[in-house]
Amino acid sequence: MANYPEVMDKLVSLCKRRGFVFQSSEIYGGTGSVWDYGPLGVELKRNLQDRWWRAMVRQRDDIEGLDSAILMHPRVWEASGHVSGFVDPLVDCRNCKKRFRADDPKIKGTPGTPDGQCPACGMKGTLSAPRQFNLMFKTFMGPVEDSAATIYLRPETAQGTYVNFLNVQQSTRQRVPFGIAQIGKAFRNEITPGNFIFRTREFEQMEMQFFVEPGTDEKWFEYWKEERMKWHRGLGLAPDRLQFHEHGPTELAHYARAAFDVQFDFGGSLGFQEIEGIHNRGDFDLSQHQQFSGKKLEYFDHGGNKRYIPFVVETAVGPNRTLLALLVNGYREESVEGETEGRTVLGLSPALAPIKAGVFPLVKKDGMPEIAHKIADDLRSAFPVFYDDSGAIGRRYRRQDEIGTPFCITVDGESAAANDVTVRDRDSLKQERIGIDSLRDYIGTRISG
Ligand code: ATP
Repeated sequence: MANYPEVMDKLVSLCKRRGFVFQSSEIYGGTGSVWDYGPLGVELKRNLQDRWWRAMVRQRDDIEGLDSAILMHPRVWEASGHVSGFVDPLVDCRNCKKRFRADDPKIKGTPGTPDGQCPACGMKGTLSAPRQFNLMFKTFMGPVEDSAATIYLRPETAQGTYVNFLNVQQSTRQRVPFGIAQIGKAFRNEITPGNFIFRTREFEQMEMQFFVEPGTDEKWFEYWKEERMKWHRGLGLAPDRLQFHEHGPTELAHYARAAFDVQFDFGGSLGFQEIEGIHNRGDFDLSQHQQFSGKKLEYFDHGGNKRYIPFVVETAVGPNRTLLALLVNGYREESVEGETEGRTVLGLSPALAPIKAGVFPLVKKDGMPEIAHKIADDLRSAFPVFYDDSGAIGRRYRRQDEIGTPFCITVDGESAAANDVTVRDRDSLKQERIGIDSLRDYIGTRISG
């Protein structure tokens, strides 16, 4: 197996320097593990989300979109099992006050006994016995802070889909099998967030619930496993950095009959970690909501003249974690032949790169800036470009390499007469002369897909 290097620290610094990701409330010292997406980060995240939406909703006739609210009726979370079951075992150290997940491999000995040793301060016997800690954020709805007004920030988007199952099915007249997809924020009061944007307390999910007739669920589970792996490969993630991990009986969530994770190799000490979960949730969620709400959530199959509660195959992927995978996968430092200074490259797929082309006049005279401005203005209506006339041309190329821009267009001394420019490819470093009038098509074809 390839041993990929640790690049996280370098990425955190690149992301801040170039405007991909900033620490939240940084001027106040930051908020624990919460991050803001800067100008380039938001473009990259949107490209990723749009790609998912296109593949899962727009290009299929058997999946509908939905955007349900973050705040939901509190009974939803009792029915779903989150109030009682969405817990992690937590231990705290009486000496240094730090908190850990009880299954943290860094803990030596048994917490709650004299030989349990705190991994932070090293004291023995100061770790509490494990207790269950609910990961849902609680807040109050309306002006009264009593228990009747307690609500939760949703820890997953899926429940918003289940409670709307019949609304969507009846309004669209979809027939089982069909799916409902949504993209939205989720919140989990994680005990040990960290590794940059890998595990945060506020994050996004792109989840799709596929409703199927009981008995066909295993077939659909296999189908979605394969489809989702194909999608991740299509993002440009290296095939040898992707693998499935099957959940054993002790790992399965309370609702799941079967589960596979798509894992990506983040390199270094993090190694293979989940970026997407594919779950066979059976009829657990719809049955629970039917019972707790007292409202029938059955599907009537006209052809078969029967009623049943569909089974659900869920695909749940985090755009933040996948974005981190893209950055890790694409980051490389290399030397350039004939140059003393090396370069840092983000090898993002052209379809996902935040900026598609840099546009430069070779020098700031002889009409070159005017031509370059005109090209940039024209291309900007089709895709994001960046005009840059400051510093040596090599520097300008390197600034674009570092943010993953796949093409750099340079207007030089021949451009005015020949009506053409050079187009430099980020990865091969090859330069081709392309007619100015063909630029939009030339780049447009290369960034599609
Ligand atoms: P983990 O085991 O890493 O806590 P999970 O199995 O609880 O994740 P799911 O409930 O299956 O995660 O959520 C689906 C996806 O949502 C995950 O694969 C991940 O990409 C993303 N995700 C979950 N929790 C977080 C988090 N705290 N921060 C960022 N992304 C997250």
